Amino acid sequence: MEFSLIERIRQRTAQAREDVRLGIGDDAALLAVPAGQELAVAIDTLVEGVHFPSATSAADIGWKALAVNLSDLAAMGATPAWALLALSLPKADASFIDELADGFAQLAQPYRLALVGGDTTRGTLTLSVAVHGFVPPGLALLRAGAQVGDVVFVTGTLGDAAAGLRLLQQDHRDGDARAAYLIERLNRPTPRIAAGLALRGYAHACIDISDGLLADLGHICAASQVGAELDVALLPRSSALLDLFDDASSQAFALSGGDDYELCFTVPALRAAQVQADLARLGCGVTRIGRIVEGAGVRVRDATGQWLQPAQRGWDHFGA
Ligand code: ADP
Ligand code: MG
Repeated sequence: MEFSLIERIRQRTAQAREDVRLGIGDDAALLAVPAGQELAVAIDTLVEGVHFPSATSAADIGWKALAVNLSDLAAMGATPAWALLALSLPKADASFIDELADGFAQLAQPYRLALVGGDTTRGTLTLSVAVHGFVPPGLALLRAGAQVGDVVFVTGTLGDAAAGLRLLQQDHRDGDARAAYLIERLNRPTPRIAAGLALRGYAHACIDISDGLLADLGHICAASQVGAELDVALLPRSSALLDLFDDASSQAFALSGGDDYELCFTVPALRAAQVQADLARLGCGVTRIGRIVEGAGVRVRDATGQWLQPAQRGWDHFGA
């Protein structure tokens, strides 16, 4: 593909690292995994019109393509190091590439993450980012490992990104700071890297919430061969979400809305207070939402203690 486009990306994402022996420019990158570390690798693809609305800015697309991948490393408790970017573009547009690379670099920089290679082709706007991170052997946070009696936590707030998407699909009022906040949560998710690192060693199980809390906590339950009980009244919801949506909608978004990229994890009850203190020290909000029980699947209690039926959980809103 056109040399100048790749060169623009290279310049805008430049990040010197000792462990990058050879970065963008040859047939392959040469990378040195630090002694005594395991490599955690993940890849996720964003397709225009499927994973982000067509009107999304190039900078937001660049940010989000990296963010969803860093979120996977966060959920493993890995330290980010390197990325590859495979990019399909309908046309070679230098200013679009510049903005996209800048959005990517804005998130990459604080982690000193180096873009070490990729591929550039013509096609529907699509970004596949592969990330590589380090984790000491045996310390990665897995989905399997939740135990009966564990407390279930989530970071941050839930449902904001789904609410932001709903606002974009409706005629939302431009200039409303709460709407802008929810749309920002959709377009610029914050990967919980520091929280994932802090949880190493004492979370029994961890996952990032990309498909919705019920679906993703369901993956922990399936992998760990346990069930989970949640209280809907405990779900952390932002004031922007509560202000702009009625209770039923905000509940459905928090339970089933995707794209929040918060962490959901379980810890033994004796460590619950320590987790809250440790994450608070990092400036990361964390909320206890339920517990791990014997059995299978996720059950949700409403504010009066009744079990919610599937339709009330918002599954009808999302067709899951
Ligand atoms: P090749 O034909 O050997 O695959 P390319 O022209 O595809 O060569 O790539 C040239 C160099 O530019 C390689 O080092 C490749 O990793 C890098 N590269 C290509 N596209 C991108 C991209 N979108 N982001 C980062 N690096 C890229
Ligand atoms: Mg190539």
